[in-house]
Amino acid sequence: MHHVGIGYDVHRFVEGRKLVLGGVEIPHPRGLDGHSDADVVMHAICDAVLGALGEPDIGHFFPNTDPRWQGAASRIFLQEIARQVSLRDGRVVNVDATIIAQQPKVSPFVPAMKENIALALGINLNRVGIKATTNEHLGFLGRGEGIAALAVASVDLTR
Ligand code: MG
Repeated sequence: MHHVGIGYDVHRFVEGRKLVLGGVEIPHPRGLDGHSDADVVMHAICDAVLGALGEPDIGHFFPNTDPRWQGAASRIFLQEIARQVSLRDGRVVNVDATIIAQQPKVSPFVPAMKENIALALGINLNRVGIKATTNEHLGFLGRGEGIAALAVASVDLTR
């Protein structure tokens, strides 16, 4: 049976943090605030896969009150969720995400993000979609106050 899930995440920009999207460190004067590395792309994909499993969101598994996850690379979360899929004899069919960022321009980093996500999930590169769009200067995303990401996942489960 094919199961689908949806994920959404947003983090605000702050001074003095690295900007990490899809596991790629992107040169930018500001980074995203968060307990972990605040990688909105990986977080949205985690929630999409968890949704396909019928599980609660990423915060349930990796609470932002747990010092173990302070500054953690979100690749760890994605790897753990992929393990959860394997434990059920399932497999991730594909994931697809859209990054909403007014700035910086993230498209040059998309190929590297896809590689990181495919590796963390243990799937082929052609099963990972990543797109980027601006918010046409509208609202908080359009003012460049933060970055958001949407994701969907398809998971094949036999039980
Ligand atoms: Mg998050």
